[in-house]
Amino acid sequence: MSISGRTKVYGIFGHPVSHSFSPRMHNAAFTALGLDCVYIPFDIEPRDLETATKALRAMSIAGVNVTIPHKEAVMGFLDEISPDAGFTGAVNTVLNSDGRLLGFNTDVRGFLRALGEDLGFEPKGRVITVIGAGGAARAVLSGLCIRGVKRVNIVNRTHDKAMELAEEFGGSFAETEFRSAPLSDTLGLRGYLSETDLLVNASSLGMEGAPALDLSLDTLKEGACVYDLVYNPLETELVREAKGLGRRAAGGINMLVFQGAESIKIWTGEDPPIDVMRSAVV
Ligand code: NAP
Repeated sequence: MSISGRTKVYGIFGHPVSHSFSPRMHNAAFTALGLDCVYIPFDIEPRDLETATKALRAMSIAGVNVTIPHKEAVMGFLDEISPDAGFTGAVNTVLNSDGRLLGFNTDVRGFLRALGEDLGFEPKGRVITVIGAGGAARAVLSGLCIRGVKRVNIVNRTHDKAMELAEEFGGSFAETEFRSAPLSDTLGLRGYLSETDLLVNASSLGMEGAPALDLSLDTLKEGACVYDLVYNPLETELVREAKGLGRRAAGGINMLVFQGAESIKIWTGEDPPIDVMRSAVV
């Protein structure tokens, strides 16, 4: 990589950000596309998010991805929000368009593409159980509701957040039924699993350095699939257990690659090579 006075700067806002795979993945894509662009990690404390976001204009930074814990808060500092992101209530991609900061959410499309390509799963009319109620769960819910799921059970450590999400999405998607339960309600969760066509882990549980998701899949409905958004480790205990029971199951690495590819498309108009991006992170 050679950096010149014309090199366009992109990056990622997160806290912490040192674990992020995105710099490797995006720099590999820029190189493969022959673009004079570079992608840098920015560790931004929550109290500095407003200043850092405004600095994108001052420093002519062409765009950033936004990750934990800034996806929701960053929306307050942007000039425009895309329908996908508005609906989801979270932004993971910012484009600096001549000083106007535009927010997008590429996790929604990334998730749906991964569901199709990794699991061959069609959401319409199906029953889904989602674990988690943060930014990633919002993207998952948006995608699933847009695709016409019949019922969603939202399960979260903090039940209030699951209830809020159920109410919020219930207000926008009258055709879908929403229920919620605390993660500690083992019996309730077992009941949900017995009617579930797709179980999605959209919580941080199972991530490197976080506790595992302690969940028995013995009541999971026959033929159900499991999608774990966690991509580090590449195969979580949840995915291993599901596969061991003969279920179709996948971890989140392809979603990561697909959402990253969508970001590059938004920033540069180019379709990056998926295989190059994937090789950079596995
Ligand atoms: P977030 O907004 O911080 O939400 C974290 C979620 O995990 C919340 O529901 C939180 O529950 C739950 N949680 C955290 N620690 C927990 C614990 N010890 N016990 C029980 N629940 C716990 O994060 P996010 O952006 O939604 O990301 C969630 C996960 O998805 C992360 O692992 C992230 O890497 C992954 N992700 C993957 C992709 C991909 O492309 N594959 C994209 C986005 C995110 P409370 O509400 O109770 O705090």
